[in-house]
Amino acid sequence: MKTQVFIVGGGVAGLTVALKLVKRGIDVIMVEKSPHLGHAYKGELIQPKTIQLFERAGIYESFSTAWTTFSTIETSELNVHLQPMLRSSMDYKQLPAPFQYAAMLPHSDIKRLLLKEVKRYDTFTLLQPATFEKMEENRAFIKQGKQKRTVAFEYIIGAEGVNSRVREQAGIERKRHVYEHDFLTVSFPAPDVVKHGHLIATKDRFLGLFPLPNGYVRTVYLIRKGEYKAWRKEPLQLFYDHYVSLFPALDGHVQTVKEWRAIQLMVPIRQHANHYVKDNIALIGDAAHSVHPMAGEGMNLAIQGADCLGELLIDLYEKRKGNEFLTYYESVHRKRVKAIMNLSHLGGLAYGKEGKAWQRSRTFALKQLLNNETLLAKYLFNISGLGFWPFSVKDSVTLVKRSKTTRVVNQMEQYQYGLDDDYPWRQQMR
Ligand SMILES: Cc1cc2nc3c(=O)[nH]c(=O)nc-3n(C[C@H](O)[C@H](O)[C@H](O)COP(=O)(O)OP(=O)(O)OC[C@H]3O[C@@H](n4cnc5c(N)ncnc54)[C@H](O)[C@@H]3O)c2cc1C
Repeated sequence: MKTQVFIVGGGVAGLTVALKLVKRGIDVIMVEKSPHLGHAYKGELIQPKTIQLFERAGIYESFSTAWTTFSTIETSELNVHLQPMLRSSMDYKQLPAPFQYAAMLPHSDIKRLLLKEVKRYDTFTLLQPATFEKMEENRAFIKQGKQKRTVAFEYIIGAEGVNSRVREQAGIERKRHVYEHDFLTVSFPAPDVVKHGHLIATKDRFLGLFPLPNGYVRTVYLIRKGEYKAWRKEPLQLFYDHYVSLFPALDGHVQTVKEWRAIQLMVPIRQHANHYVKDNIALIGDAAHSVHPMAGEGMNLAIQGADCLGELLIDLYEKRKGNEFLTYYESVHRKRVKAIMNLSHLGGLAYGKEGKAWQRSRTFALKQLLNNETLLAKYLFNISGLGFWPFSVKDSVTLVKRSKTTRVVNQMEQYQYGLDDDYPWRQQMR
C-alpha cells in the first residue's frame, strides 16, 4: 500500500488532521489499534479556540447540535466546617464575540462525529484494528490481525498518544513530570443546579463539576497518590460522602453510581517532546505534549496542533514545497503549548497541595485575581486559546500586594490570534 500521509492513531488529534487533509483531496491512511472508539473519559471540555477551528473546518453545525454549552465557572473555597470562605465566578462572556462559551461533549462522541466527517471522503482509508510497529525509509510496518502490511508514505504523523512509537522510532526525547495526586472521575445524572462549571476546594480536597448533554454531570475528584487502592476496598458510601459533603445537591444523584468499576482513575502527567518535527515526521496531540488536566486543555491543544499541521501540509502539497517547511508547525504550536502547559501546571500545583496554610495562600491569590479584572480577563483569555495576553511583572506585584480593583482594560482583541498568527507561513509562501 502507499499513501501521501500516514497517520498513526485515531484519537482526536489524528482524526482532526485527517479531516483537514482528505477534504483537500490528499491521500491518507490511518491505523488505529483499538477496535472501537472507546468509552473511557478523556477530555470533554471544548474551549473557544477549538470551537472556532470547528467552524473553520465546517463541522460546527454537527457539534453544536450535540454538545451542551456554559459560560460561567463558579469557584468556592470551603473552610474546615465546609462553610464558604470565598465564592466567585469567571465568565466566558468577557471574551471577544462570538465564542463566549465553552462546550461539553463526551469524548467518544467527539471522536464519533470527527470520524463520521472523515469517512465521507474517498481519499481516506482506515485500517482498524491495526497496530503500527515500526518505520524504515519512508515505509511503515503494521500488523492487522495475523497479517503484516507495509505502507509507503511521503509524511508520517505520530498521533498515538503519550506512549508514541513514532516518537520513539524517530529518536525524539521527551521530558516527563508525574504529580503527587490523581483524580477520580465519573459522570451521572445531574441535579438541576448544575448548569455551569463548579470548582469546589477545601484545604485538602477538590471537586470539579461540569454539565454534560442529556442532563448528566462530569465530576472530577482529587485524591492523593496511592489512595485509590485503599478506597476501592471500602463501601461506595465513602465516595458518596466525599461528594455530598462538598456539594450537598449531589445527594440522591451520586448514589446512581453503583460500583467502583464505573469510577475511572485519572493519572495526570506533564510530558513534552523535545521536538515535534524531524524530516518528514511530525508528532501531534499527546504524542508531542500532555498537560495537567486542571484547565481542561489537553484535548484542545491536540485539536489545535492538528489543525495547524493539517493547514501546513495542505499548503506544502498545493505549493509544491518540501518537508523543510514542516518546522513551521513546531514554531507556531510549541510556544502556545508552553504557555498553556505552564498555566495548567500552576493549576495542578494550586489545588494539588494540601494544608490550611496552602489553602490560605491559594484563597488570597484567588481573591487578588478576582479583584483585578484585567488579570482575571488575561487568565480566561489565555485558557480559551483564542490568543495569548502576556502576564507582566506588574501582574505578579498585584498578586502579592493587596491592591484595589484595577480599571478594566479590555485589550483581548489586540492579543487575539488571527489567520496570520495561526498560519504565518502563508505570507512567505505567497
Ligand atoms: C483520563 C483523562 C482525562 C483527561 N481529561 C481531559 C480534559 O478534561 N480536558 C482536556 O482537554 N483533555 C483531557 N485529557 C487529555 C486528552 O484526552 C488528550 O490530550 C487527548 O485525547 C489527546 O488526543 P490524542 O489524539 O493525541 O491521543 P489519544 O486520545 O491517546 O489517541 C491515540 C490513539 O492512538 C491509538 N494508538 C496508540 N498506539 C497505536 C499504535 N501503535 N498503532 C495504532 N494505533 C495506536 C490509540 O488506540 C488511540 O486511539 C484527558 C486525558 C485522560 C487520559
